[in-house]
Amino acid sequence: MPTHRALVALQDRFAGTLLLPEDAAYDAARHPWNLAISQHPVAVAAPADVDDLRALIGVARESGLRLAIQPSGHGASDSLNGAVLVRMSAFDDLEVDLDRGVVTVGAGVRWGAVVDALEGTGWVAPAGTSPVVSVAGYTLGGGHSWFSRTAGLGSDNLRAAWVLRTDGTHGRADDSSDPDLLWALRGAGGIVGIVTALEIDLVRAPDVWGANLTFDVADASAVVRAVRDLAVSAPSSLNVFLNSMRMPDAPQLPEEIRGRSFLTVQALSTNGPQEELIDAVRRAGHLRRETTGPTSPAALAAASNEPTDPTPGRGASMALDVLDDATIDALLEFRELPEQWPIMGIDIRMLGGALGTPRRAGFASLPSAGWLLHALVPVFPGMPTEPGDASLVAFRELLAPNEAPQTVATFLEPGQTLERCGSADDIARLRDLRSRFDPDALLHDGRLPR
Ligand SMILES: Cc1cc2nc3c(=O)[nH]c(=O)nc-3n(C[C@H](O)[C@H](O)[C@H](O)COP(=O)(O)OP(=O)(O)OC[C@H]3O[C@@H](n4cnc5c(N)ncnc54)[C@H](O)[C@@H]3O)c2cc1C
Repeated sequence: MPTHRALVALQDRFAGTLLLPEDAAYDAARHPWNLAISQHPVAVAAPADVDDLRALIGVARESGLRLAIQPSGHGASDSLNGAVLVRMSAFDDLEVDLDRGVVTVGAGVRWGAVVDALEGTGWVAPAGTSPVVSVAGYTLGGGHSWFSRTAGLGSDNLRAAWVLRTDGTHGRADDSSDPDLLWALRGAGGIVGIVTALEIDLVRAPDVWGANLTFDVADASAVVRAVRDLAVSAPSSLNVFLNSMRMPDAPQLPEEIRGRSFLTVQALSTNGPQEELIDAVRRAGHLRRETTGPTSPAALAAASNEPTDPTPGRGASMALDVLDDATIDALLEFRELPEQWPIMGIDIRMLGGALGTPRRAGFASLPSAGWLLHALVPVFPGMPTEPGDASLVAFRELLAPNEAPQTVATFLEPGQTLERCGSADDIARLRDLRSRFDPDALLHDGRLPR
């Protein structure tokens, strides 16, 4: 049946919502969270249940469409031409089992809901920094969290998933029943099936302690070196992020932050105070502000200032093997160049710890990389994309000599593929698994073009 007629026919028996381009609500529904990416799917579906998902699979098979599962679209990457965009918001169950240290969530649940449910329990989730990213999108893409040195990637903590396969069967899969499927789900996104729920390990952390140190930017060289040196002795219970912010001198910004620079070190321990370890960093520069003491993921999320509403954004990310003196100097020099003003923030995350020995077999892993860097360039609607794009190219070129062999999919940029996240053998295995689990190509290519 022609595509459009098949979708119109499905609208009548669809329990959730199925919007076509002629429907008034379609235009607002087609956008991803990252508004810099323009998507034009043939329809936007919000299935109410597994039967609705099965009906979508049926139409895809009949009409040659592909299904692109996108809980919210922080990781949106292409136009979705010829695809049905599938939102999982109705799959919103959340069950915390503290006896087993496990949370079970529907594929539409966002990390903020899990963080709130765990507040005060002595357990934390392997969540990323944004409360509005979905547990599914993050975990299926690898996922690097505040607690990754302690608990590994988000995908290492995926115990089991409920998967609707393209043959219409739906059930729980784990390492005993479907080791290949789980290996692919841990980091290669949804190219092997539609996940309806996930079972995730929690991290026991009764004594979460944090230090937030803001320095003069003039001391950046010594502070970044001190953080780099800390990696040698830091236990896996200590997680460290460094952030260099330079607000553009843009009239759109409030006067109090416009054109100003900050350098902040955030350390988070799952094992109580780590004052003596942080002290070397503290002494490396002139502290402008310090907050130290007990904290929690909810407090971190509240203080993180991550945007929660859909926002246009772009950036460049890279995992590095080492952060040597030459790279630190080159990066800081680059940061001061007037022509690099479009780069508003650079994040440097310390890797290592539990990331070095993944607990479960999965496509995503960062076993040998030492650092994960991300540069952020804001997008101001209506303004030209240059010189921002050129700054991101220069950022990548500067770091390229130290690039680690692989990164994680949640840090891929639009248009980048899973080839950057695994070896040639891993990619060949993924392609084989996709042919086995989705032989008729009903699922969107995602980050692995066919
Ligand atoms: C402000 C911000 C902060 C961020 N912080 C972090 C961070 O700290 N750590 C980190 O690792 N990442 C971070 N990210 C990146 C983010 O984790 C990824 O972009 C993630 O993929 C987005 O999740 P989403 O819910 O928007 O998923 P989407 O972008 O909507 O989906 C991503 C992909 O996941 C797959 N998928 C999702 N759900 C299903 C399903 N149910 N079945 C099958 N396949 C599915 C699909 O292949 C889909 O294309 C951040 C992004 C932003 C914008």
